[in-house]
Amino acid sequence: MDKLIALCKRRGFVFQTSEIYGGLANSYDYGPLGAELLRNIRNLWWREFIQKRPDMVGLDTQILLHPETWVGSGHVASFSDPLVEDTVTHKRYRADHLIESWLEKNGRTDVVVEDMKIDEMADFIVQNEIKSPDGNDITRPRTFNLLFETAIGAVAGEKSKVYLRGETAQGIFTDFKNIVQSTRVRLPFGVGNIGKSFRNEITTGQFIFRTIEFEQAEIEYFFDPESTDWKLLLESWKKAMWQFVTETLGIRESNLRWRRHTDKERSHYSKDTYDLDYHFPFGWKELWGIAYRTDYDLRQHQEHSGHNMEYTDQSSGRKFIPHVIEPALGINRTFLMVIADAYWDDEANNRTVLKLHPSLAPFRVAVFPLVKNKEKLVQKAKEVYSQLAEKYRVAWDDRGNIGKRYLYQDEIGTPFCVTIDYQTLEDGTVTVRDRDTTEQVRVALTQLADHIG
Ligand code: ATP
Repeated sequence: MDKLIALCKRRGFVFQTSEIYGGLANSYDYGPLGAELLRNIRNLWWREFIQKRPDMVGLDTQILLHPETWVGSGHVASFSDPLVEDTVTHKRYRADHLIESWLEKNGRTDVVVEDMKIDEMADFIVQNEIKSPDGNDITRPRTFNLLFETAIGAVAGEKSKVYLRGETAQGIFTDFKNIVQSTRVRLPFGVGNIGKSFRNEITTGQFIFRTIEFEQAEIEYFFDPESTDWKLLLESWKKAMWQFVTETLGIRESNLRWRRHTDKERSHYSKDTYDLDYHFPFGWKELWGIAYRTDYDLRQHQEHSGHNMEYTDQSSGRKFIPHVIEPALGINRTFLMVIADAYWDDEANNRTVLKLHPSLAPFRVAVFPLVKNKEKLVQKAKEVYSQLAEKYRVAWDDRGNIGKRYLYQDEIGTPFCVTIDYQTLEDGTVTVRDRDTTEQVRVALTQLADHIG
């Protein structure tokens, strides 16, 4: 993890937010290369799940929704984590996380922390004398709501209170009727929403795995439970998620697993929930969740808002509240997975490489003039750059020797480097060097786009 964090900073993928003021807990900025990678992940998700499917539509809802949305959804009452405090340092921790590391340290596999209610956690902490990471006593766990509150200036008093959204999904539910009425969608269909969410997370120090501000890509897939078998639908979504991670993002299957939520752990409204876990440098952790949430959310909003949320079946005229399957992904967690999976210390060649899938790499290709003070070479290289830049994000480098330029591009994951040399001026060919094999081949400029793919 330290190596990843160092690389992210050194090469401009991730910076600590407001570093000059000492940083802000659980907050990170994405540098010039990180911004490209993040955008590539987001665009691939949108392309695969929204644009390529006739049964999906996209949405872009607000961060600030009507505050009653979060009352109706149940977040105001129960979107919380169990918080404990170190009685000496006053540092705060999640009780479940402290219990989890205690269980790991003591080799205990008979207890599943996900199954514990808050009172059970309290008893377990007392019985086993679990301390804070600094070795001090901790307080009894209490529920800590994760929603951030803020206020709208134009409204006076208590009515001004609003929440920064804790997830992107609720915007889909509140717009459900508008989507049905304004488009030609018919069940089953899905709605995808992507954007920032905010959670007042207690746990610190997990880099971009868990932050207070993060991006989510969530889907609600609506269906009629009388005509669609939810088990088959859930399986097809699990397959689509697995395919996206392994094929579109190129992640190794050996670093992925499904974990089914136990009956005790699962939210009361869900009939089945799975996490797609990735083997992060600090262990197996959730990357992507999928849950069959029945008609819970639309029904809650119908009851709380008084607004009818039913769908009318065109052929039979039957009115009912659709059920949903929800695949919910974190874009920043995906970013961390992608970097972790791609990181490679290539000792044989004495270099560090990010073996990123070409469609994720911040730069698809780098263009180098062999030397920078030969006008004809530079001129030709600029032409090649401009042609490639029509289709890809292209890096330009004319500093130092070619070997150093290769090492730099390896570290930021650029799949190909193209060098324009004297031979190029004579026969229109260039040297193309492959990131993973370091092999160099001579390619005609007319074939270059095909070679890069
Ligand atoms: P966790 O158990 O790790 O807190 P969660 O089960 O609360 O996550 P969901 O509410 O299912 O997460 O959110 C869907 C996805 O959003 C998660 O799978 C994760 O990728 C991402 N996510 C959730 N919380 C955060 C966060 N604080 N920082 C970054 N990504 C997050």
